[in-house]
Amino acid sequence: MEVRRHIDVAGIVQGVGFRPYVYRLAVERHLAGNISNTAAGVSIEVQGPSAAIEEFVAELSSHAPALARITDLKIRNLPCSGEHKFRILTSRSEEPAGALISPDVAVCADCRRELFDPGNRRFRYPFINCTNCGPRFTIVRKIPYDRPHTSMAVFPMCPECEAEYQDPLNRRFHAQPNACQVCGPHVELWDNSGEPFGEADPISEALAVLQAGQVLAIKGLGGFHLAVDATLATAVQRLRGRKGRVEKPFAIMVPNLEVAEQLCEVNAAAAQALQSVQRPIVLLPWKQPSPIADAVAPHNRCLGVFLPYTPLHYVLFAEGGFTALVMTSGNLSEEPIAIDNEEAVERLGGLADCFLVHNRDILLRCDDSVTRVIGGTLRQLRRSRGFVPVPVFLKQDLPRVLAVGAELKNSVCLIKGKHAFLSQHIGDLENAASYKFFEQAIEHLESILEIRPEIVAHDLHPDYFSTRWALRQQGAKLVGVQHHHAHIASCMAENHLDGRVIGLALDGTGFGTDGKIWGGEVLLCDYADFERAAHLQYVAMPGGAAAIREPWRMAVSYLWRHYGPEFMKLPIPFVRQVRAEKVNVLLCMMERNVNSPLTSSCGRLFDAVAALAGVRQKINYEAQAAIELEMLIAPTTRAYPFAIRAAVDGWIIDTRPCFDALIDDLSSGVPAGLISAAFHNGLVEIFLHVAKLLRERESLNRVCLSGGSFQNAYLSEQLHGKLVENGFEVFTHSEVPAGDGGLALGQALIAAHRLTLQTNSGIDIHR
Ligand SMILES: [Zn+2]
Ligand SMILES: [Zn+2]
Repeated sequence: MEVRRHIDVAGIVQGVGFRPYVYRLAVERHLAGNISNTAAGVSIEVQGPSAAIEEFVAELSSHAPALARITDLKIRNLPCSGEHKFRILTSRSEEPAGALISPDVAVCADCRRELFDPGNRRFRYPFINCTNCGPRFTIVRKIPYDRPHTSMAVFPMCPECEAEYQDPLNRRFHAQPNACQVCGPHVELWDNSGEPFGEADPISEALAVLQAGQVLAIKGLGGFHLAVDATLATAVQRLRGRKGRVEKPFAIMVPNLEVAEQLCEVNAAAAQALQSVQRPIVLLPWKQPSPIADAVAPHNRCLGVFLPYTPLHYVLFAEGGFTALVMTSGNLSEEPIAIDNEEAVERLGGLADCFLVHNRDILLRCDDSVTRVIGGTLRQLRRSRGFVPVPVFLKQDLPRVLAVGAELKNSVCLIKGKHAFLSQHIGDLENAASYKFFEQAIEHLESILEIRPEIVAHDLHPDYFSTRWALRQQGAKLVGVQHHHAHIASCMAENHLDGRVIGLALDGTGFGTDGKIWGGEVLLCDYADFERAAHLQYVAMPGGAAAIREPWRMAVSYLWRHYGPEFMKLPIPFVRQVRAEKVNVLLCMMERNVNSPLTSSCGRLFDAVAALAGVRQKINYEAQAAIELEMLIAPTTRAYPFAIRAAVDGWIIDTRPCFDALIDDLSSGVPAGLISAAFHNGLVEIFLHVAKLLRERESLNRVCLSGGSFQNAYLSEQLHGKLVENGFEVFTHSEVPAGDGGLALGQALIAAHRLTLQTNSGIDIHR
């Protein structure tokens, strides 16, 4: 029996080869009908024998193109018509608002085959792409996503490319960045003053630069990389020296999975992530001995590894024969990554010896994403290229909210209907160039989504640049959101939770409602509000921000808090090594309460323990002491004890028993690895205990884990495991970072719910 169906498909189904895919499905089954783009996705009408239609519908989502993501499928019946062909309708406006733009993704296997086929017209062409691969997000100026609105607009297609572009059965049908040697962009090699050089092939000459141990700046998808041969210690040191980056690990790009497996321990989840179209950097345990220079990641047991993702990367590896290249963001210390050729030469001229540039403009920068497998699941540490702008899909339609995120590792979030669009990694806003990028990213996001927010959500910290930006916005309602409440709401949002949960928010720094610096928090919360149920005991941060850069200060603070000025007589190595006059300065500050804000931060507790265990007294990058303390863990089931005291503002987690046990261990020479493990285990036990007490009191069984401390794999896995063992339902992050990079999502959800509440009840949304 003939039937006709109308199918509305929503999601990422435009600019990803979805229409040709559907066209082929229909033609193979001799079905009639048509397909066209709509505001929300695509609309299909299909007619034929009912069995074939069933099969067609089943196939639709099961073998969709690599970049497609179907979020909704609505099917209804239509009366049959006399049509007997299947057509792609292009009459309606192409790629309209509401359709989702695909992220930038790695070159596909089909294109790679052509890239290395001497008989192919795109042999060695560094910009080969098709509807299944290549740039998207970083070349779009505005919607609709159509060639004139991309940085490919300046490259009119040659007749051969045009024919591919127009042919529904071709892999390059409506592939907006389609190009070839004849009509498309090309690479050039420049010296560090921006002068093109070399008569011969720029790629071969660029390889010679790398092979000579020099620093090559390479223009990629979302910005410039600085590259050196990762096996040449002197080259890596040269790059460190020039970049002013003392110890923060560099990521390395390796030619394929096999090499990654030779260098690192790669489990199944990590292997899958490495080869995924998003091609994130994956942190992997580093095998020793290693051909990779130690200076790539000093004092670190992990290496950040990723596979090539542009055709240019593949050609460089195929012809250069490298085991690994350091590929670090093309920037000076914490500045944003460079994207423009002239800008790159100006900013990176002192860092790179040569520049491998091209003339396809990057319209918006997008750093490499950084991930880590924790508890068998891939977690985002920095969510950027490959993932942005795929939204977090929400449970319900929400008002139009812009959330402006935190101060460090900033990202912003824009809600449109059921979609929460988290921006790419923006960086640390105290840096002027990053702040400018923050403004551009908001503008770009609003432009490609065609949305004006009615609410702007911001952190409660009055001095964050993001907060100050929000306070200057005219015409939008402002909602201030507590930092740790936002962390837990972010976790709830990506797990589609409603109602109240127990939230364990552990991180370094967040402004509290009492004006103190929070960071070891147990909350009872829903989207609208929270109650602070428990927190780590307050201690002073002598010197304020200086105490973050110098963990020894936190050690002094804790010792003074628990043992008074007599702590200098404790029989531990720390007091013998620290200079008495420096300690006295801190004691004066704390006694007089000068520049010594109080904190309940979990990160600062890690710092104190790391300093006492002799791991690190000063840091060179964020959270270095905590990271190195985690790296040292040696297996033991011992757990340092903590105690709980009741106070007016909830329970206080007393750290004194933990320090008593730690001092005992230090005075009897227990190795740092065992100390680290006992400390981690102690934290796990005490937060499990608090969760159990709250379950009893509040009849809540769902626990959300969020905050930067959960990027610590051991803490995260152990606490998760113990909670599950004890019958809790546990939720963590996988789509957005647990750290401040995912904060804006939670801010947005809270603001949206407060507005909904206010509209319903007239209450004031400011707190
Ligand atoms: Zn391709
Ligand atoms: Zn062409």
